[in-house]
Amino acid sequence: MSKLSIRDLEMSGKRVFIRVDFNVPLDGGRVSDDTRIRETLPTLRLAIERGARLVLASHLGRPKGKVDPKYSLAPVAAKLGELLGKPVAFAADCVGADAEAKSKALRNGEVLLLENVRYHAEEEANDPAFAKQLAALCDQIFVCDAFGSAHRAHASVVGITKFVRQSAAGLLMEKELTHLGRAISNPERPFVAVLGGAKVSDKIEVVQNLMKLADAMLIGGAMAYTFLRSQGLPVGKSLVENDKLDLARGLLEEARTRKFRLLLPVDHVLAESPDFSTTKTTDIADTPDGWMGLDVGPRTIAQFSQEISKARTIVWNGPLGMFEKPAFAQGTLAMARAVAAATVAGATSIVGGGDSVAAVEQSGVASQISHISTGGGASLEFLAGEKLPGVEALSER
Ligand code: AMP
Repeated sequence: MSKLSIRDLEMSGKRVFIRVDFNVPLDGGRVSDDTRIRETLPTLRLAIERGARLVLASHLGRPKGKVDPKYSLAPVAAKLGELLGKPVAFAADCVGADAEAKSKALRNGEVLLLENVRYHAEEEANDPAFAKQLAALCDQIFVCDAFGSAHRAHASVVGITKFVRQSAAGLLMEKELTHLGRAISNPERPFVAVLGGAKVSDKIEVVQNLMKLADAMLIGGAMAYTFLRSQGLPVGKSLVENDKLDLARGLLEEARTRKFRLLLPVDHVLAESPDFSTTKTTDIADTPDGWMGLDVGPRTIAQFSQEISKARTIVWNGPLGMFEKPAFAQGTLAMARAVAAATVAGATSIVGGGDSVAAVEQSGVASQISHISTGGGASLEFLAGEKLPGVEALSER
């Protein structure tokens, strides 16, 4: 990696501003899933061991530039204290006199968490004056460990880097960049990409870029229906983005001329609406009117799994069906098992996006996946070949 890493920094006795991703789910004022907090512990422990004075910042939810106690990071301070086994101080505003005083009171190895940066509209606006106020809380050293926010040019991710001497990647950030970077720049082949989820429009750039890089692509989930419909196939009431039909047709045409292996579902599990308990399974060509496809069918699962078993690099983002409902989760769970099995057999696998990650966890195979990406949107932009502003802004090594 060409960017400076936290491992390169001299931090003893210095206040280091660390942007983390503590955007965790809260339930009645308690952290209900602390995965994101635990992911940053290696970075925080390294900084503590090296005698840094840690000033941590994060966003949580979308308070839209206003103070909203529902999105307070105070419960996260308590949880982090438990995980680190030491007290974590808390500043009720991420900028201003109190935060400055608390940052100055830190001794080596001590930790301060700032309140939600999105309580200020200036955060998302990447306001330079606000970024400068954030930078005033540290001794010219910034570490970004919030891969999940790296695709956003916000003040605590990008703006602050203009007001410090060194901006380095944290260990989690570095891990993400190494894994994703290797997959797209130097993959062991065959490289198979699996894409699913609701909308084609969210993933067009990813499809286009991965068609250049991968050896095969498997498309499932609702987004497959726009492709299927563009070929004149019957899809009933399945979700189709009509304004993307031409684009989908063009991509399939390109795949055909280039002899790129792009696989779409051949059968599916249907219901009259997502809430109906009666389902049926048909080939795509036999889709009845008035029914909607909500999961891939057994023949598709077999084909996709076969393709995965031959892969040496696998990138997967997005569920193959309406995974939240057990009746339509089979395709996604089968994919999780196939990706895990291929990994055990020697492939490198990268799974990103909330539903796909949930599927590997539910299937009990998470530990078999090479890399589970913490940033859904950021990893998609990375796979689309875009430069992430939060990475670009880091200092060169
Ligand atoms: P995304 O955020 O684009 O990854 O999409 C995830 C959502 O897509 C999940 O909420 C799934 O329920 C939904 N989804 C996947 N397949 C289908 C489908 N065939 N019909 C309707 N929704 C789907």
